[in-house]
Amino acid sequence: MDFALSDEQRMLVDTVRAFVDKELMPYETEVERQDRVRPELIAQIRERAKAAGLYAANMPEELGGGGLDALGVALMERELGRTSFALQYAVARPSNILRACKGEQIERYLLPAIRGERVECLAMTEPGAGSDLRSMKTRAVREGEHFILNGTKHFISYADVADFAILFAASSEEETPKGSKKKITSFLVDKGIPGFEVRMGPRSVSHRGYHHCELVFTDCRIHERQILGEEHRGFDVANEWLGATRLTVAAQCIGRAQRALELATQWAATRKQFGQTIGRFQGVGFKLADMATEIAAAELLVLLAAWKLDQGSAMDPDFAMAKLYATEMLARVTDQTLQIYGGMGLMEELPIERLWRDARVERIWDGTSEIQRHIISRALLRPHEG
Ligand SMILES: Cc1cc2nc3c(=O)[nH]c(=O)nc-3n(C[C@H](O)[C@H](O)[C@H](O)COP(=O)(O)OP(=O)(O)OC[C@H]3O[C@@H](n4cnc5c(N)ncnc54)[C@H](O)[C@@H]3O)c2cc1C
Repeated sequence: MDFALSDEQRMLVDTVRAFVDKELMPYETEVERQDRVRPELIAQIRERAKAAGLYAANMPEELGGGGLDALGVALMERELGRTSFALQYAVARPSNILRACKGEQIERYLLPAIRGERVECLAMTEPGAGSDLRSMKTRAVREGEHFILNGTKHFISYADVADFAILFAASSEEETPKGSKKKITSFLVDKGIPGFEVRMGPRSVSHRGYHHCELVFTDCRIHERQILGEEHRGFDVANEWLGATRLTVAAQCIGRAQRALELATQWAATRKQFGQTIGRFQGVGFKLADMATEIAAAELLVLLAAWKLDQGSAMDPDFAMAKLYATEMLARVTDQTLQIYGGMGLMEELPIERLWRDARVERIWDGTSEIQRHIISRALLRPHEG
């Protein structure tokens, strides 16, 4: 067992950290205040990320990406997690699911996404179908070589900036012993085509400047060549590629928690009450100790899951445990950081309240904490059940 980073991994961490400090952090306050990332700033970050070799770092080298393995991606995400989500998102890591592109889809979607010419959003959730995705009502009805799409998706991140959507729609139903079950197909749908409307969603407390939208499909006609993966096998494509996405959420939580702990420690070491620095009070010092311990534990879980992914032995519970523990740890760490800052922690002048607000969504998106617990508990119980 070797826990040491290789020279290459250490260089990656240094490069990303320097990029975050120089190219992203200076714009955090602007993004918070304006609740947007200016298009020129997005373009600037993309160009500088490309120059630094960080753009599409998760994609295979032979396709023009950075060729990072899962461990490399986790380390990169950890560092990017230190800054505002809206800013680091401009350093695109195209969705892994795009690797399922084939034929002309590679030229139209995958390669432009890697080159930074086109950006995707991922549309699964609906007003009536969140955790229970299979109950989705958006339908794709076959008409010869075409499909007619009807339905509404909501909470779709980055759809305001994206050029196309990776859409999941019910394309058929099958009877099973437990009743009828929807079959889902995944499609690549270009923004701007007739019958596809994008509307801004309500403002969220987490991640200012990173918006979510409602996607409305009304008799939207697309060709069958827009199917991503196989017809009726959309969840297979999602399961194959999206588990690792939970790992990126978890890795980012580590970076954010580390930043919170640094800020909390600096404050506790300098703020004086009752004639001494507050960190010297056991009630504060022990908080710091618990925070550091939890961050270290979460980091080990994340890196272990990434390592297993690289070895080809990662299972869904590995990603679920990493996401569950890291997101819940971040909530505790940011809450305690705010407590250590006292009233100052609530003021918008400092990044503390933002870290605390931003932490809230992590336990909800990409599968809630309860859904992660389902994944873990089912895997535990299955071998013992008849
Ligand atoms: C800011 C933001 C951005 C998002 N971006 C995207 C995106 O880009 N693309 C996309 O497709 N989706 C996106 N989502 C959707 C996100 O993945 C869902 O919000 C999430 O899966 C939960 O669904 P829900 O909000 O409908 O909650 P629900 O599924 O209605 O759940 C409500 C509560 O019930 C609990 N619950 C539900 N079922 C069970 C169960 N079986 N056992 C125990 N508890 C249960 C949940 O854990 C939760 O606490 C985004 C959400 C937000 C808030």
